[in-house]
Amino acid sequence: MRFKRIAAVFAVMVTALLCACSAPVGSTESFSSTDAQSGMLAVHFIDVGQGDSEFIELPGGETMLIDGGEREYGETVCSYISSLGYSEITYLVATHPHSDHIGGLPQVLAEFDVENVYMPNVSSSSAIYGEFLDRVEAEGCMVTQAAASVGVIDENGLCAEFLAPVEDEYSELNNYSAVLKLTYGSTSFLFMGDAEELSEQQITADVSANVIKVGHHGSDTSSSQQFVQRVSPQYAVFEVGKDNSYGHPSAEAVGRWQNAGAQILRTDLLGNIVITSDGEGLTVNTSQNAETPAETSSQAQTSAETTSAAQQSAEYSYILNTSSKKIHLPDCSYAANMSEKNKEFTSKSVEQLESEGYTPCKNCMADYDEGHH
Ligand SMILES: [Zn+2]
Ligand SMILES: [Zn+2]
Repeated sequence: MRFKRIAAVFAVMVTALLCACSAPVGSTESFSSTDAQSGMLAVHFIDVGQGDSEFIELPGGETMLIDGGEREYGETVCSYISSLGYSEITYLVATHPHSDHIGGLPQVLAEFDVENVYMPNVSSSSAIYGEFLDRVEAEGCMVTQAAASVGVIDENGLCAEFLAPVEDEYSELNNYSAVLKLTYGSTSFLFMGDAEELSEQQITADVSANVIKVGHHGSDTSSSQQFVQRVSPQYAVFEVGKDNSYGHPSAEAVGRWQNAGAQILRTDLLGNIVITSDGEGLTVNTSQNAETPAETSSQAQTSAETTSAAQQSAEYSYILNTSSKKIHLPDCSYAANMSEKNKEFTSKSVEQLESEGYTPCKNCMADYDEGHH
């Protein structure tokens, strides 16, 4: 029954979306940083313990979420995204139906405006999967099957395309994992979900990337030697829980990426990991296991930025996020998370700002909301 249900849920056929990401990988031909609104791509590898969740701020202001950790991390994921000032998720990718990937997604679907959902054509009898499908249907999201060569985005030097699953059927649920390659200018990211060696071997597309979210939490069933060499990344990111019972990541898998020249970044050791790209180079920031992303980011603020914000506070009433259209109070810790390019100071009234399409931040302006609506 579930299989029929998931098939019925796919609104768009795969053939209609076959990707034509035209620029060869690494090409900067069609890339111009002025094409995009902010010019920056930020990939947040959210620390969700033993599970996966990656939130991506796209250069034009759109967003993508790949997985949402276990159910108990739904709140972590939601507050992380809200703290960045977003209320919409343009693209939600559920890599495969295991609970450490889709567990937090029902809450995400409930709290955010999710436009498009991508998932592989495989079902599960688990309660969490049923709940996830219910939510997807209730929210009326556009659902597309994730499979090799299905394109998501191809514009202004930004390309997102699925490289797997290559086949229709696997004996191991992990190998149904939607594998996504994201290219921005001359930089690229590869998100493996829990894809294992079989899937790695089947991918014929170019897998070379600057950053890889390593498959299956660094299990030895993934990261085969040949695949590691094909990817040959600068950074290998492991989403893995501290002292997890699976023994992830395996020393062998870590060693293979290291030997290929990659710097190892682990959420169990570093907390949230953020890698930003301007289309040409990468910058890595980590939270060092701070309690919340908001605190993290305010700690990471340079003293120069803090000073300039303090100096300006006499002249403005609110801080605006021009990308997410959110209004923040000057002392909102969440406002500190914003990229400088989206930040604007204003002395306008909330009423005026609302008429311009802005909405008050749910964190710092919760009282305002209650009092006025
Ligand atoms: Zn997993
Ligand atoms: Zn899995």
